Amino acid sequence: MTKVLVTGATGFIASHTILALINKGYEVRGTARSASKAEQLNATLSKYSGKPIEIELVSADLTKDEGWAKAMEGVTYLQHLASPIPSNLPKDPNDLIIPAKEGALRALKAAKAAGVKRAVMTSSMASIAYGWGDSRPPVLDETHWSNPDNLKDNTAYTRSKAIAEKAAWDYIEGDGAGLELATINPVAVLGPAMSADVSASLELVTQPMLNKVPAFPKLTFGIVDVRDVAHAHVAAMEAPEAAGERFLVGDKILSFARIGEILREAYPDRKLPKGELPSWLVRMLTLVNPTLKQILPELEKERSFSNEKSKRVLGLDYIPAKEAVLASTNSLIDLGEL
Ligand code: NAP
Repeated sequence: MTKVLVTGATGFIASHTILALINKGYEVRGTARSASKAEQLNATLSKYSGKPIEIELVSADLTKDEGWAKAMEGVTYLQHLASPIPSNLPKDPNDLIIPAKEGALRALKAAKAAGVKRAVMTSSMASIAYGWGDSRPPVLDETHWSNPDNLKDNTAYTRSKAIAEKAAWDYIEGDGAGLELATINPVAVLGPAMSADVSASLELVTQPMLNKVPAFPKLTFGIVDVRDVAHAHVAAMEAPEAAGERFLVGDKILSFARIGEILREAYPDRKLPKGELPSWLVRMLTLVNPTLKQILPELEKERSFSNEKSKRVLGLDYIPAKEAVLASTNSLIDLGEL
């Protein structure tokens, strides 16, 4: 059986990628900061898929050398998904940039040393659409690169993703030559959660469902279902023409207020926020609530994109964004989180 290593195996996108790989007949090994999470992870994967699943988990931290060589033994493909994606941004951007960049390089170097054929790395729309200022192209695609040095149009998270992806390509073009690389650059990922320990992106539905926002800031988000993102990771690993390519993965853009409407229609008995928050008020609120600062680069911006390449090369036939919103919410209701 062909063995695939999935880093950050406990994560939201990684769990779906593991199932997609297993369903295609691959043997999967995972990494997590602590291998003691294996039992819980296997129970979650088995419950969600309705069949017994037992993958091996190896301890490997993005910020430490230990474990990476062992994790890579006998592996043909690497799926590198681990990277910090916090709900609240840290004071020091390096808390995200260092693990993202150095972790990617650790994983790729270990893969090269072990003779891995191809690595697929989860990058982000954050590596494409940020730091452009007034010169942002009207429709973004894989030919575009964010400028992580323009701090006005970036957060520590978006910078960490652009810096990590650039470092990965630089490595492949230099000392890493011979190891193939493809990157998946998703927009905001929604869709069914397997466990209550969910990615920060699901706050797009948990915040309104828990009535944690008074009204909707003028934000728009590209939305993609996690099942499509998992499919993209597997297809980018298998398709010969995907080597050396980036893939922007997303269905379409929804405003935060539209997400609210979708939720209100689907759950008429819930008390949900209504209407839009003026942007001046959001800016003022950051003075009392600094965690809101991370949304400032997004206010009143629409980062339009093309998903044509992902459809053409990876064969994606996108689950509608509305369905992704509802699948997230229904799964969290079933898990007793909403
Ligand atoms: P997630 O559920 O929070 O998964 C992130 C994973 O990274 C976790 O498994 C976490 O492992 C691991 N990780 C974080 N810091 C680590 C460290 N120092 N050492 C080892 N592992 C570490 O989030 P996700 O949404 O699935 O994200 C997966 C990937 O997709 C990330 O690269 C993220 O940037 C990217 N992405 C996500 C979105 C989105 O909207 N969700 C959009 C674009 C790109 P622990 O279990 O040890 O914490």
